[in-house]
Amino acid sequence: MASLYNTKIEELKGLGKKRAELLHKLGVYSVGQLLNYYPRTYEDWSQVTDICDIKNGETVCIMARLSSGVKSGYTKTGNFIAKAVVSDDSGSCELVFFNNPYIRTMLRQDVKYRFLGRATRTFNEVKLISPTFADEKDKNVIKPIYNLTAGLPNNVIVRAMKQAVEMLPEEINDPLPRELREKYKLCDLRFAIENIHFPSGSQALAKAKRRLVIEELLVLNLGLRRLKSIKRSENKNLVKTDYSNEFESLLSFKLTNAQKKAISDCVSDVMNPDITMNRLVQGDVGSGKTVVAGSLCYTIIKNGGQAAIMAPTEILAEQHYNSFKEILSNTNLRTALLTGSVKKSEKERIREGLEAGEIDLVIGTHALITDKTLFKNLALVVTDEQHRFGVSQRAKLLSKGNNPHLLVMSATPIPRTLGLIIFGDLDISIIDELPPGRQTIETFVIRSSKRARALGFIREEIKKGRQAYIVCPLVEEGEGDSELASAQEYAAELMLNYFTDIPVGILHGKMKPAEKERVMSDFSQNKLKILVATTVIEVGIDVPNATIMMIENAERFGLSQLHQLRGRVGRGSEKSWCILVSDSTTENSYERLKTMKTTTDGFKIADADLKLRGPGDFFGSRQHGLPELNISSLADTRNLETSQRIADYLLSDPNFMYDERYRALNAEITRLFRETGEETLN
Ligand code: ADP
Ligand code: MG
Repeated sequence: MASLYNTKIEELKGLGKKRAELLHKLGVYSVGQLLNYYPRTYEDWSQVTDICDIKNGETVCIMARLSSGVKSGYTKTGNFIAKAVVSDDSGSCELVFFNNPYIRTMLRQDVKYRFLGRATRTFNEVKLISPTFADEKDKNVIKPIYNLTAGLPNNVIVRAMKQAVEMLPEEINDPLPRELREKYKLCDLRFAIENIHFPSGSQALAKAKRRLVIEELLVLNLGLRRLKSIKRSENKNLVKTDYSNEFESLLSFKLTNAQKKAISDCVSDVMNPDITMNRLVQGDVGSGKTVVAGSLCYTIIKNGGQAAIMAPTEILAEQHYNSFKEILSNTNLRTALLTGSVKKSEKERIREGLEAGEIDLVIGTHALITDKTLFKNLALVVTDEQHRFGVSQRAKLLSKGNNPHLLVMSATPIPRTLGLIIFGDLDISIIDELPPGRQTIETFVIRSSKRARALGFIREEIKKGRQAYIVCPLVEEGEGDSELASAQEYAAELMLNYFTDIPVGILHGKMKPAEKERVMSDFSQNKLKILVATTVIEVGIDVPNATIMMIENAERFGLSQLHQLRGRVGRGSEKSWCILVSDSTTENSYERLKTMKTTTDGFKIADADLKLRGPGDFFGSRQHGLPELNISSLADTRNLETSQRIADYLLSDPNFMYDERYRALNAEITRLFRETGEETLN
């Protein structure tokens, strides 16, 4: 097949220069590339439905006879409209065509055709809107529909594709050799290509698709793992002694098993001479990631290195600083807090201390990564809530040491299969257990007609000394600056009509960082009782006294986002509530919200979200730089898992890369990643 990549599409018959150029616009230059241009969807003419069985909203193919002539006229808005009635043995149905004056000459009364289109059914009236049609005797085919560009009709691509498929050589060099295909029940490449374009039936199509999807995901997996192994470098900050037990004895509680496991993963990384640690610790909100980082910092420092923890906001940095100061109060470790608002003279003193090696642990914000901050012996960098930091910021902090270890902490539960992909360059530890004795958060889903009652409930809680978050109604996309207006309007409404005597703060995306910090800090000091926010509620913020999270327009959020927001409460000893307000009329989304009532496991929620909404939510916050996928989707958990199993199997042979049988597969890996600029793979 390799030679087809060197065969220009201009060599296909009947494809003029102009149309070849249009195909170039779609990224197709060679016959090989054309064969990889898979259909967007299919028209299935092979399954004929009886008119009486048609359901509302379905796309169906019917075989029916015109029982009337075509009647035509104009709509009130001046559009040409044509209608005809057709019937089969089970019933009759109306066809409606817009702006096609030729329909009258194309369809004849009393003749039988196949029609394919989207149906609507109201009571006993069935309509097909603008169906396509074919001769009754036309073969039972599943017809490919390609993504088109202006001037390039589908049938032109179909004709070119038919020739391209004919050009496939007798012996195709299949990147998945026979024994692998047999082991994982995958069809061969020729069958896959032929049937993805011109399926011989729906089962053949499914087989073809599965094979191509798994191959693509396999190549992605193998490529990412290769990248990971290349980026590994020798351990320049080798740790000799594990001090994690000593650290645990400083704590007022016992570590959970999941925390212990994460700590031991980290420790064995930093004690391994062959690698520099590159690890992501992922755990649900409140799972206790901070002490995991603390423990590793302790071991690093006891072995003579310095450690830095970078937090996304000043408040979080302060929070961490205070809790570490307390834990470390009976030790001789020297800690410092370095944020933008630390006094200038103090900053200078801290910087001198870091450079001289007189400070062991520094916790800070972006102030840490300015050029002025230098370290004597930075051996570990911890970043909290990683998606807030760009890769370049991480790199900048890393450059301040001699190849220091990296620990990234994230509270966004990501389905395991997806984590392997998104964080291709990091090893992952998962904390899947909460410390004992946590209050469960009670979740309610209410209609907005009950809002006043909910606000009354909030008032009661505030009377008892508690605090509340209220997430504003979301603004529809494309409404521009109205986020601000709607947040302000909503807050004003609350202040004027409900909470006239209660201090309410407001937080939105248009505020400057310093302003945000001030509002957050007032809230965490209990000066503000209610925080009205758009979705920008700072990640990781820990205000144990806040016990209510009310979210407006809850149906517009992903379940994972709702889970994150809910995690802002239930952090203290008091019982907490989450109130989801939604007037959604679709039963589906209301049901979806109700699963928030029963599920508290972030990973389960993430899995559900992935299936319902696709992987966009998980990628949104991070520039992933992954190659574009042609046929597969990262939401396809089943095939993703299979591809990961195959990758494990292949990589269990250390010589996989040099195995002659896998030359084509290895070449594909190189090709896929060349487009993302990862030259290291070549
Ligand atoms: P997150 O994973 O969301 O960052 P934190 O590290 O902030 O969670 O921990 C949340 C709270 O739980 C903190 O107050 C912390 O002291 C406490 N905590 C952590 N681990 C344990 C444990 N094993 N037992 C009891 N409390 C714990
Ligand atoms: Mg945290």
